[in-house]
Amino acid sequence: MTRPARARIDLAALQHNFQCVRQAAPASRVMAIIKANGYGHGLVDVAQALAAADAFGVATLDEAISLREAGFDRPVVLLEGFFTADDFPLVSGYRLDVVLHHSSQIDVLEQAAPGRALDVWLKIDTGMNRLGFAPSDVSTTLDRLARLGCIGSLRLMSHLACADDPDNDYTPLQLERFTEVTQGLQGERSLANSAALLAWPDTRMDWVRPGIMLYGGSPLLNTTAAELGLRPVMTLGTRLIAVNRRQAGDAVGYGGDWVCPESMHVGVAAIGYGDGYPRHAPSGMPVLVNGKRASIIGRVSMDMVCIDLRSQPDACCGDEVVLWGDGLPVDEVAIRAGTISYELLCSVNNRVRFDYTG
Ligand SMILES: *Cc1c(COP(=O)(O)O)cnc(C)c1O
Repeated sequence: MTRPARARIDLAALQHNFQCVRQAAPASRVMAIIKANGYGHGLVDVAQALAAADAFGVATLDEAISLREAGFDRPVVLLEGFFTADDFPLVSGYRLDVVLHHSSQIDVLEQAAPGRALDVWLKIDTGMNRLGFAPSDVSTTLDRLARLGCIGSLRLMSHLACADDPDNDYTPLQLERFTEVTQGLQGERSLANSAALLAWPDTRMDWVRPGIMLYGGSPLLNTTAAELGLRPVMTLGTRLIAVNRRQAGDAVGYGGDWVCPESMHVGVAAIGYGDGYPRHAPSGMPVLVNGKRASIIGRVSMDMVCIDLRSQPDACCGDEVVLWGDGLPVDEVAIRAGTISYELLCSVNNRVRFDYTG
C-alpha cells in the first residue's frame, strides 16, 4: 500500500476564486501570484488552471523558466527582480518582467546591458519598509533608467503592510503616498494584494496582485473565506493506520504530555511535520475523521499524529482523516497553530501525493 497522505487540489475551486477576483476588480488586470510553487499547490498545474490571468508573479528564475518551458507566453514577473548580471541571459531569453526595487540593481544595469529591452515594474516603498525605492528617490531613479536606454515598458508598484485589517489607518496612508509619488508619471500602477483588492477599493488601479484568495485562504482578519465566497483549493488528508484502546493515565506520544483521562480509542493518522503539517499544532487541534470533527492529542511526530477518537467510537483503520480543506478551513488550523494559511499551504511537500481534480 502506498502511504495515504494526499493533497487533493480542486482546480475548479481555483478558477472559481479567480472569478471572485475578476468580480471584485472588474476594471483591473490580474497578475496571479503563484510564487512558492503556487503557494504549495503545484506551479504549472495552478498556472494552467489560471490561464485567463493577465500575468503571473513568481519569486525565482526557476519558477519563471518552468512556466515558459510549459508553454505560457503571458507576462511573467520576477517579484524580486534579477540578482546579478548573470541572470540577464535567462531574463532576456525567456522574456521575463523584472521588479526593480534597489539602486544596486540599476548599478548592475549600468555596467552590463541585458540582451533585450527589459520590461520593468518599479517598486516604490510607501511604508512597508521592506523592498522598494523611497518616494524621494523615485525621480532620480527614473532619470537613471531613462539614460540606460534598455528599458521597455515601465510600470509602478508598491506593496501594502496592513491591508488585511480593514480598520487600519496605515493603508490609506500608503495609498496616499503612492498616489502622490506616481502623480503625473507615465506607466500602469499596481498596489493591491488579495486583502486590498477586497477591502480597499481605491487600491485596485490598473493591476491587482492576488495570491492567497486564489487558493481559498481568507486574506482578511475576522472574515472567513466562506464569508468572502472563496472555496478551498487544497484538501490535505490521510488515513488512520492504527486505532488502539488506551487506559486512563496512558500518556500519548513524545514527551508523554497528553494523558488519557479515561479508557478511550486513540487513532494514529499517517501525516506529520515531515509532510509539512505544523509540529506546533497543539492538542485540541481539529481534524475531520470520516467528515466529523475530532482532535489531535499529544505532539505531532515526523510521520504521524494521534487523534482522540472519543467522538468517533466506530472509527477504524483505513478511515479518512482531513487536516484542512473541505469542511475544515485552513485558516482555522493556521490560527490554532500560531501561523497563517500561507505558511501551512506552502509547507506541504512532495512526500504528500498531489491529486488534481476539476
Ligand atoms: C506575495 C505577493 C502578493 C500576494 O499577496 P496575497 O496576500 O497572497 O494576496 C502580492 N504582491 C506581492 C509583491 C507579493 O510578494
